[in-house]
Amino acid sequence: MLIRTAKFLTSNTRVDQCPAPTLPEYAFIGRSNVGKSSLINMLTDHRGLAKTSSLPGKTQLINHFIINDAWYLVDLPGYGYAKVSKDSRAKWEKMINFYLRERENLACVFVLIDSRHAPIASDLEFIDRLGNMGVPFVLAFTKADKQSGSRTHQNVLTYVEKLRETWDELPQYFVTSATEKMGREEILTFIEEVNLNAAPTKDNA
Ligand code: GDP
Repeated sequence: MLIRTAKFLTSNTRVDQCPAPTLPEYAFIGRSNVGKSSLINMLTDHRGLAKTSSLPGKTQLINHFIINDAWYLVDLPGYGYAKVSKDSRAKWEKMINFYLRERENLACVFVLIDSRHAPIASDLEFIDRLGNMGVPFVLAFTKADKQSGSRTHQNVLTYVEKLRETWDELPQYFVTSATEKMGREEILTFIEEVNLNAAPTKDNA
């Protein structure tokens, strides 16, 4: 898929204030510093679209972007900040659960995982939550350029084995690097295919 246009639309704390659910939507989420903003900017080929390295504790917002006037890309507030208060953690939980449950045009959630690390409890918990809620999701392993290809491969295998302990069906996954533009074509092709299925009568290319 060619990215012709990528525009910021709105930031919201409430799901009912998000743009009308008329287009398929893809949400990106992960632990702080996982490389979410960098991946979004790499996918859309817009360097400043998502703000990189946003500070923890900042207002937690659901950020909507519109791509090719055909689908929404959503930057969701992350989890796993070390210094977050109980209060803002509870607010995050409420907002994210509501978003996942109520956002009717949500086509897929991209859960971002740092490819350098062994499985981390907060990521596994979030994956379990998506699975239990029946929300479609895929994994995107980030920062693959930071280590050798074989090391990344080994870490991904370890991750998949960990998921196999709980799940019969394993999620699709992508190996990415924002600096190398790795995984870009694969993810955009995936989105293109889901878009076609989401709206068979419309031209979402
Ligand atoms: P976010 O907090 O999840 O949005 O993460 P950012 O996109 O702000 O990235 C956090 C840090 O990791 C920044 O210093 C980025 O430059 C760096 N980073 C993100 N993605 C990559 C990547 O694919 N490769 C490398 N080498 N660094 C990355």
